[in-house]
Amino acid sequence: MIPPAFEYLRPKTIPEALTFLEQYGDQAKILSGGQSLIPMMKLRLARPAYIVDINRISGLSYIKEEGGFLKIGGLTREAEVEASSLVRSKYPLLLDTTAVIADPQVRNLATVGGNLAHGDPANDHPAAMMALRAEIVATGKKGERVIPVESFFVTLFTTALQPGEILTEIRVPSPPPRSGGAYLKVERKVGDFATAAVAVQLTLDDKGAVQKAGIAMTNVGPTPLKARKAEDFLRGKKPDASAIAQAAQLAADESQPSPDLRGPAEYKKGLVKELAKRAITRALERAGK
Ligand SMILES: Cc1cc2nc3c(=O)[nH]c(=O)nc-3n(C[C@H](O)[C@H](O)[C@H](O)COP(=O)(O)OP(=O)(O)OC[C@H]3O[C@@H](n4cnc5c(N)ncnc54)[C@H](O)[C@@H]3O)c2cc1C
Repeated sequence: MIPPAFEYLRPKTIPEALTFLEQYGDQAKILSGGQSLIPMMKLRLARPAYIVDINRISGLSYIKEEGGFLKIGGLTREAEVEASSLVRSKYPLLLDTTAVIADPQVRNLATVGGNLAHGDPANDHPAAMMALRAEIVATGKKGERVIPVESFFVTLFTTALQPGEILTEIRVPSPPPRSGGAYLKVERKVGDFATAAVAVQLTLDDKGAVQKAGIAMTNVGPTPLKARKAEDFLRGKKPDASAIAQAAQLAADESQPSPDLRGPAEYKKGLVKELAKRAITRALERAGK
């Protein structure tokens, strides 16, 4: 299908893009990788009169460590995250996540910023970023503001981004020693959205007890969900098999799946329980290395 007609705008700077966004208000949409926006336009689920293509703005694509954070530019492609030796060596949860998003063709274009800004509870980065306690940098006419990812996902397809704002950076706190993470997803076939997925990021103290726990879930609620009770339960505990099983049960209890073509709600809760158990176990293995 062919998308409806639109005016195509190609700003070369952030101020120019912000001016277009201000000028055309809710008639305008930002285009990054186009891997969600273009399919939605083809299906007539989105009909923007103006497309503001930000791909020609330089300096929005990078992966670097600075000031205690891993900083990912808003326009960084999934393929760049996957190829990053920094991500590979220190951020296994991010690497796990990127590797299961769609397929290599999509990942060559899709951006991390677009994955978050789209606000789809089926997307994979939101839960990963919640487990990692990331921050989102939004740039608008009034300057920059930093939004904790926990308050970024407001409801289905709605984020805390205000009209006229561009997601310009994602900041992931650099993990202390004895940290590890994992993302596990069940999909019907390779490249599909998650039936359910669980992201886990853990830090252990000197005695091997859990010091910090981040656990979040994909596609089992109207937004990505934090498993707060599971996190609280694990904190301060030695993560033995019984503690892991109890935390996984708490995560399943906190999930709010709906029945759909991917399966009944109880099946998805069962998946969350098993995925949480395995993701916690893998995160612990990685934290121990
Ligand atoms: C075949 C296929 C399979 C897929 N499978 C998966 C999957 O398994 N997991 C998964 O997570 N996703 C999947 N997706 C969805 C897609 O990969 C993501 O949503 C994608 O990462 C979106 O990023 P993008 O750069 O392409 O965003 P776009 O499509 O360009 O934009 C998406 C939305 O975000 C807004 N936006 C984009 N960038 C910004 C910005 N910097 N600031 C403010 N707003 C912005 C746009 O206006 C639009 O509303 C799949 C897509 C396809 C086509």
